[in-house]
Amino acid sequence: MAYSYEAPVSQSLFDRASVVTPGGVNSPVRAFRAVGGTPRFMVSGTGPYLTDADGREYVDLVCSWGPMILGHSHPEVIAAVQEAVSRGTSFGTPGEGEVALAEEIVARIEPVEQVRLVSSGTEATMSAIRLARGFTGRAKVVKFAGCYHGHVDALLAAAGSGLATFGLPDTPGVTGATAGDTVVLPYNDLDAVRAAFAAHPGEIACVITEASPGNMGVVPPADGFNAGLKELCAADGALYISDEVMTGFRTSKAGWYGIDGVRPDLMTFGKVMGGGFPAAAFGGRADVMAHLAPAGPVYQAGTLSGNPVATAAGLAQLRLLDDAAYAKIDAVSAELRSLVGDAFTKEGVAHTVSSASNMFSVFFTDRPVRDYDDAKKQEAFRFTAFFHSMLEQGVYLPPSAFESWFVSTAHDERALERIAAALPAAARAASEATA
Ligand code: PLP
Repeated sequence: MAYSYEAPVSQSLFDRASVVTPGGVNSPVRAFRAVGGTPRFMVSGTGPYLTDADGREYVDLVCSWGPMILGHSHPEVIAAVQEAVSRGTSFGTPGEGEVALAEEIVARIEPVEQVRLVSSGTEATMSAIRLARGFTGRAKVVKFAGCYHGHVDALLAAAGSGLATFGLPDTPGVTGATAGDTVVLPYNDLDAVRAAFAAHPGEIACVITEASPGNMGVVPPADGFNAGLKELCAADGALYISDEVMTGFRTSKAGWYGIDGVRPDLMTFGKVMGGGFPAAAFGGRADVMAHLAPAGPVYQAGTLSGNPVATAAGLAQLRLLDDAAYAKIDAVSAELRSLVGDAFTKEGVAHTVSSASNMFSVFFTDRPVRDYDDAKKQEAFRFTAFFHSMLEQGVYLPPSAFESWFVSTAHDERALERIAAALPAAARAASEATA
């Protein structure tokens, strides 16, 4: 596919990057491999806009994959960061900022009685499953195909369908022994979970699930699915871990828990709570968290955990996220979903705009999408044409058909008008695309 818009400065940066960094990027999806073309190297962000190294401005619908829920360079977040930086950048000691951030999380999310701060969502889920294994004395972990929990070895297994398939490593470098304790099940299928518990009674340490998945596109839990997981875990003595790295502090003030009210034993957070800095967390039941070092025997640590600059950014962002902010984000998302749906309908493109609170994505199919297999059956080639048309017209979408779109409080009428103006041509490009 040829792209009419070129990005010479980004291209030369990408060429340089490809010499010194594998694939030219520090996280694979940034390389545009799913859609082709030159990844845009961004130099600045303000409100809902990003500016690339070629001087082009885009309406940003990625928002750093979720964290920038107030838009870019929010003045109060920047001020909090500048104030923190002026006092030093890392001490390797406890500090008040991390206490305040932990208090804010505990105050917002009722099942979180204690929380441990870490630096990435991957660390949060890795530590949560270690803690679950240490607490229960069991080895097996249940996860769902299509749910992403970071690049934790044991969670990079997503074997094919089947009732209770033992995980096969999804990547070289993960040993069969590591993946062998991971049971991968189809999402939204409580019968499969029941069968897994029946096959491995007393062996499953935890079931980990995205609270509402956004990593196979947006595929919300069916009614009663999360409650069913909780119930099956409780009956067997396993822990129910809700991964809210993506949904936490985004889908409501109390994340997805604020929507479905199903009480997890452990939860994981990241993205929004770091205000654009590397901060993440896991927390939950005090009796479980008490097993964590130095209170208990399960080891977990981090040189930069609770970093003063990251905690200042996260705290400033969370304190600005009041009911009015969530109402605004929900309204922006609803308007955008209807604009996108209308554009595809007008062009006769089979599609489903799938949403969970203010997170959403488009599947190029009109069949229901309840799990990863359904998601993979969409006509993803249409997304490529759609993506490039939007990019050319100054709208930056996630460069994959299997990612959530993110909006912020900064997405105002002007930003929405720019998206609306770009949609008809992009929907036409999707309709004319061929596999
Ligand atoms: N869990 C979920 C649900 C995520 O969406 C992600 C990242 O996208 C992670 C965990 C991993 O977080 P990180 O990229 O900060 O390691």
